[in-house]
Amino acid sequence: MKYINNNFFIEQKNIKNLVKKFSTPLYCYSYKNLKKNIENFKNIFKQISPLICFSVKSNSNILLLKEIKKLGLGADVVSKGELFASLKAGINKKKIVFSGVGKTRAEIEYAIKQEILLINSESLSEVLTIEKVARKLNKVVNIGLRLNPDTDAQTLKQISTGKSENKFGVDKKTFIKIINLMKNSKFIKIKCLSVHIGSQILNYKPYDKMLNVLDEILENLNYKFETIDLGGGMGINYENKGKKLNYLKYKKSIIKFKKKYNCKIIFEPGRSIIGNAGILVTKVIYLKHNKTKTFVILDAAMNDLIRPALYNAKHRIIPYQRNNSRSKKTLEFVGPVCETTDKFLTEKNFQSIKENDIMIICDTGAYGYSLSSNYNLRVRPEEILINGNKVKIIRKRQKISDII
Ligand SMILES: *Cc1c(COP(=O)(O)O)cnc(C)c1O
Repeated sequence: MKYINNNFFIEQKNIKNLVKKFSTPLYCYSYKNLKKNIENFKNIFKQISPLICFSVKSNSNILLLKEIKKLGLGADVVSKGELFASLKAGINKKKIVFSGVGKTRAEIEYAIKQEILLINSESLSEVLTIEKVARKLNKVVNIGLRLNPDTDAQTLKQISTGKSENKFGVDKKTFIKIINLMKNSKFIKIKCLSVHIGSQILNYKPYDKMLNVLDEILENLNYKFETIDLGGGMGINYENKGKKLNYLKYKKSIIKFKKKYNCKIIFEPGRSIIGNAGILVTKVIYLKHNKTKTFVILDAAMNDLIRPALYNAKHRIIPYQRNNSRSKKTLEFVGPVCETTDKFLTEKNFQSIKENDIMIICDTGAYGYSLSSNYNLRVRPEEILINGNKVKIIRKRQKISDII
């Protein structure tokens, strides 16, 4: 994605032409970026030969899942719907793990019948439910047990999952208790220890701390796990400030760990695979001035992209067409939804803009469409996939009749 003669292109496609054809708001994905992210991830961890399970909640578009499958990944799912979509996309059942704190009996039964690789369990009650269902179906079920390592991921508090105050996983004491309790179960085999400490992590140190906690537990527990599922959480560069996760340091620590415990490794990346492969294209409906700033009212809103409203996340906004003049006032990019938090970004020194201009909200491939809603009875946007000069609609814009 880049400017050519001051106009923004996604692969070989001029955004303006896409807008003419598909209207706005519009999610556009670059196949090349997706492919590059997957290849980079595989290359970095080649020595570890991990199973890479794409976190489907970050983007559950089934046509994207099909591409991700073709590029060799499995899936990490958190609901029956995501499991269904992953199977429908052709992802091998033996490359699917099922995470989440509240899987219902019906979801567990479905997952067992599909014979997926692992159900990653997050409480004693859930383990016992899985055992009951397995007994009823007369099947032996492989599960993972998610540990809450009580490590601070040093990310936004709303997307931290590995501190003791968070609802995810079980604490060390409970973990050991469940392992001992289930050692001789006929229907449940605990094959995997899983962790996932949070999202948008840019510092490798929390990962190191997490590995140290695992090491401590495993040293004192006379139990062999076939697999260690390290979760996802690798951060991306939203603000263009060059802060990057040091993958090499993380990899080194994992190699050491893997040598010591001779286990297979699973990763569950979402954001780092699809985040920077997507943009949200939008148009300026109105400009409105007050004493101190100009509101830029876009046709995309918090129902299309909720991350800024939900966690104060920052997404860069760039103009489709670059110019050399500056806006005198501070610009506040907002959506039309009737909520004060329906606000994307405040920018000083932005270029001058006018009504009907096309704007691009960057890095919206992950937790963009998948977190969208019909709030204010707005239809969900269209999604298209660009590969070179080819364009494919991968989800049509909703119609009002679809939602009422
Ligand atoms: C959300 C989630 C992930 C993916 O996190 P990213 O930050 O998108 O890589 C992985 N594992 C589990 C259990 C999750 O809940």
